[in-house]
Amino acid sequence: MSDLLIPELVCPAGNLPALRAAVDSGADCVYVGLKGDTNARAFPGLNFDRNALSDGLRHAHGAGCKVLLAINTYTNGADLSRWTNAIDLAAEMGIDAIIVGDPALMAYASRVQPSLRLHLSVQGSVTSHAGINFLQREFGIQRAVLPRVLSIEQIENTVKNTSVEIEVFGFGSLCVMVEGRCALSAHASGEAPNLDGVCSPARHVHWSERKESGHSWLDARLATVLVDSYRADEPSSYPTICKGRFDVCGKRYHAFEEPTSLNALSLLPHLARIGVRAVKMEGRQRGPAYTAAVTRVWRAALDALAQQGATMAFDPLWFTTLSSLAEGQTDTLGAYSRPWK
Ligand code: SF4
Repeated sequence: MSDLLIPELVCPAGNLPALRAAVDSGADCVYVGLKGDTNARAFPGLNFDRNALSDGLRHAHGAGCKVLLAINTYTNGADLSRWTNAIDLAAEMGIDAIIVGDPALMAYASRVQPSLRLHLSVQGSVTSHAGINFLQREFGIQRAVLPRVLSIEQIENTVKNTSVEIEVFGFGSLCVMVEGRCALSAHASGEAPNLDGVCSPARHVHWSERKESGHSWLDARLATVLVDSYRADEPSSYPTICKGRFDVCGKRYHAFEEPTSLNALSLLPHLARIGVRAVKMEGRQRGPAYTAAVTRVWRAALDALAQQGATMAFDPLWFTTLSSLAEGQTDTLGAYSRPWK
């Protein structure tokens, strides 16, 4: 057995079937959101009402899995009641921790529900140990989820300088911006993750066909902004501005970011060695099959780490499976690896 502290596996659940898939595939924690705009995946058809949450809690806790509730949009203006009601509900229902980005909600939770464990959301956009320690002093946060913009060295330095548990993203779609600071969707549609809980809201997405030079094209728009045009034989993806192709200086390309997914599996022993306490899988908007497949791979890898230690053997099938689930079927270490520095 390894003497490494094995990170917790934190998996996404956009609905009850996905929660069951994550729990049954070996998640240590699942994270969920309530119906409405209190969480950053407020897409139609996703999220939990009180009954579904109650069922989910029963299923997860019965299997020894924790349930974390994301209340990670920002409050807007005077009325905080939707968010504070969500915090009270979390305490009443026995949620294991809430994931919060807005300091106003941390203040409320630490004052009114002091026994509720507080995790700093990636939407809180805090990238330094100084910021994390400040929130620990003020509000008693016990875990911080780091934005996906830090290198592995910066993560290590953060872990060394705080007693707050550090959680990092292990797999899933990338936000290129420092999370919590992106206004691209709001620029086009007036709605964005921070305030409205959704990037590229479906009601502002429009698809249209056109013919040009004898070819058929499928245009994807967010409100009036043309985000991408696909030839008939090209695979298309859901249009977010950061992953669109734009004409820049006469060339059409992914001006912000190529569609790709973060995959830090190969760094797992390193993440454990530097003291990362949890690895998070992105994807509450994905279905149960995706959730189950990703969870199974990471569970197997974490179990191998626990058994074999830092010299663990990696099964090539793990990488093949994750690549097949990645955006654009390609993956990256993202900001974790900066060999040019
Ligand atoms: S536009 Fe892209 S970077 Fe910005 S919030 Fe949406 S997915 Fe993230």
